[in-house]
Amino acid sequence: MNCKICESKCKKKKILTRSNNRLNLFYCKKCDFEYFSHNPKKKLVLNKLNISRLKKAGLQIPSYNEDFNNGLTQSKNYIKKYIKKNDKKKKILEIGCSFGYFLYSLKKKGFSNVYGLEINKVCKNFVNNKLKIPCFTDLKNIKENVLFDKIFLFYSFEYIHDPKDYLKKLFSKLNKKGKIYIITPNKRDVLKDIVPGSNFKNFFYDISSVNYFSKLSFQILAKNLKLKNYSIKTNQGYSLANLFQWYLNKKPMKTNLVGEDKYIEGLIQDIRYSKFQQNNLKKKIISLINSTNHEYKKILSKYNYGNQIIFYIEKR
Ligand SMILES: [Zn+2]
Repeated sequence: MNCKICESKCKKKKILTRSNNRLNLFYCKKCDFEYFSHNPKKKLVLNKLNISRLKKAGLQIPSYNEDFNNGLTQSKNYIKKYIKKNDKKKKILEIGCSFGYFLYSLKKKGFSNVYGLEINKVCKNFVNNKLKIPCFTDLKNIKENVLFDKIFLFYSFEYIHDPKDYLKKLFSKLNKKGKIYIITPNKRDVLKDIVPGSNFKNFFYDISSVNYFSKLSFQILAKNLKLKNYSIKTNQGYSLANLFQWYLNKKPMKTNLVGEDKYIEGLIQDIRYSKFQQNNLKKKIISLINSTNHEYKKILSKYNYGNQIIFYIEKR
């Protein structure tokens, strides 16, 4: 197998996925990139993602209502980070929009030019028919003269069989000054590598998620596609509490969010509204928890070990 990014020869090793499948994982040392060789598209089209991602890993598949509410909460953060007030007239496309939480949140705020792309038929029909937001199944279905100002891929780039070719096509769908935002898991995940007792490495790989990028993988991908204006950074979404959780329980716990958790925020709320009278002590404990968590996230991001990679591209 040759690397999907640089085409060098790759090494392979057998690994266990979270749904207990033994698979060949290919590794390109030059790109610090790992991948599976199969195309997960068929299973994704048939709405099978959550079976390997959640059910077979011992997690409950959320009900539709629960899923939609979680999605809306997460979308609030994305909008705060990536959308500006004067984007209202801009053409926005989300690749892998699932049930359309992000696009629906934008539509409700008065954004009228929002589009989705989703290969999962159940989701795609929902976005089209229930949310009344245009949703495509393939880039080929978007007319050639239709170009976008912002394209988002929130946790979807890792499912795309040929990421290099796909990104090239996406770039050609950008208007002048258009932007692409890719958020995807970092292959250099601290739980997998420095906390072997967490058992996280047996949870990390999912059979449908075929690409595992590092910062270096994106640097080489950008160079090979001759992209000029881009940035790549990592962000730690999971808290220090999540590290303790994995070390103690050695299995996943529901976070209701993708790539992040709000455990620390919950703990602080609990302490803050307790009947405990020693307010000074209370304040000190809250401050200690907050600053330790903040420092933990900062250190990981600085060393490029944040669990999310944020790849930002601009067409000038
Ligand atoms: Zn490579």
